[in-house]
Amino acid sequence: MTRFDGDFTLTIDGRSVTTPTAIDVINPATGQVIAQAPDCTSVLLDEAVAAARRAFPAWRATPLEQRRAAVAKFAEVLAAHAQDFARLFTLEQGRPVAKAAQEIMGAAFWCQTVSQQEIPVVVNEDSAERRSETRHVPIGVVGGIVPWNFPMLLGVWKIAPALLTGNTIVIKPSPFTPLTMLKLAELMREHLPAGVFNVVSGGDQLGPWLTAHPDVDKVSFTGSSATGRRVMESAAANLKRLTLELGGNDAAIVMPDVNVEEVAEKLFWAAFGNSGQICIATKRMYVHKDVYDAVAHALVEYARKVKVGDGLDQGTDMGPVQNKVQFDRVKNLIEDARASGLNFLVGGDVPQADGYFVPVTIVDNPPENSRVVQEEAFGPVLPLLKFDEVDEVVARANASEYGLAGSIWSADVDKAVEIASRLETGTVWINETQYIMPWTPFGGHKQSGVGIENGSEGLLEYTLPQTISFRKSVAASAES
Ligand code: NAD
Repeated sequence: MTRFDGDFTLTIDGRSVTTPTAIDVINPATGQVIAQAPDCTSVLLDEAVAAARRAFPAWRATPLEQRRAAVAKFAEVLAAHAQDFARLFTLEQGRPVAKAAQEIMGAAFWCQTVSQQEIPVVVNEDSAERRSETRHVPIGVVGGIVPWNFPMLLGVWKIAPALLTGNTIVIKPSPFTPLTMLKLAELMREHLPAGVFNVVSGGDQLGPWLTAHPDVDKVSFTGSSATGRRVMESAAANLKRLTLELGGNDAAIVMPDVNVEEVAEKLFWAAFGNSGQICIATKRMYVHKDVYDAVAHALVEYARKVKVGDGLDQGTDMGPVQNKVQFDRVKNLIEDARASGLNFLVGGDVPQADGYFVPVTIVDNPPENSRVVQEEAFGPVLPLLKFDEVDEVVARANASEYGLAGSIWSADVDKAVEIASRLETGTVWINETQYIMPWTPFGGHKQSGVGIENGSEGLLEYTLPQTISFRKSVAASAES
């Protein structure tokens, strides 16, 4: 069993590559440096892209069954080292170790499932004189850019479909959480042809170098909408194909007929899972006025039982915010709420500590135009908002530049489905939330994204349609 405490190196062309300088990786629970990650130079990035390019012709020609086996191998390797991955994950990301293990096993499940996906061939015409079919061929070299909130799962969302469909890939993890992905690449070196899967970590320039690289054919990016706009701009130079999974400001709508006792815990974790650092976390919770006080009371009671602390400690339910930049943003949002005279139902006092700990904070019915409602907090801060009428709450939920997801909580599922169809988001859940599976297309409307991940639609984003059309009789063709 690998212990994961050695050096961290890039994986380029199937080899371990060191860099002249390194970046510090910090444990968000202590503020201490836990490791140094390689700082990829532009020359080394060129080498990674060149290796992926060289590997592409043979990889696209590799029989699909062998590519399936390679993708399934990721699942095997992740599962075999799940405990070591989980511990390293907690050290760099902050999440409690049991929940970190869930992400590692989730990533393994993803690879296993994607390895069985079909790449469709569509027959457009099959008449006496002609056959026309559309196949889906790989695009070439993919650049994959991953954020720090789900550094493994969101990475394999790109790696598995890209490799299955015959592309090669260069993955860039976030500089805040590069370690688990660097280790995965190290463990996969012996299982893949050189150059098929490259992983590079580095500082702030590395992402822009990758998205502007003239020999990258597609970028699959997950991160904030602000960065997504820059990625789109930089990808324009050679008209790269793009998938952008971006930010959200998801609304939950809690109807007056809910059983408050039953839903309180689910509502709580919808907002505070991963310390609120989930793109599809509930970031605005609209509660009908008839049950507002009961829901507020139940959430506060639950919040008081939740233990915030170091993810390596037994009994920790919620870890720190992942990095200093994000910690300062969330703290600023709380200070703004306080300065605006808003009332906290719970939390609001950020402790002085070495780690980036923010307590569960719930703001009591703030005005719709306040920052805590309008901005994506991406931390454990939730505005609880009161509503009166369905039309009103639908309008408020939709009044956002984001359109990632949302949820409706009601005993009347038919009515909830009707409300769901009026929300301008890529996904709406009813009486549950954040249910995402490899077979379900996921993507944002409006400024929450471009394109889709997962499902057959997500798989096809790593392909280009190629139509092959032929006359069945050459003689007939010559006559026409
Ligand atoms: P970010 O946009 O700051 O960074 C994301 C990644 O892009 C990192 O690897 C970063 O190094 C890289 N990057 C930064 N600037 C770049 C540039 N100019 N060009 C290319 N790459 C660049 O986002 P973050 O803070 O790491 O993640 C949080 C955001 O991600 C939130 O807005 C969240 O909602 C969003 N997110 C979306 C999804 C989704 O599936 N829609 C999932 C998770 C997170």
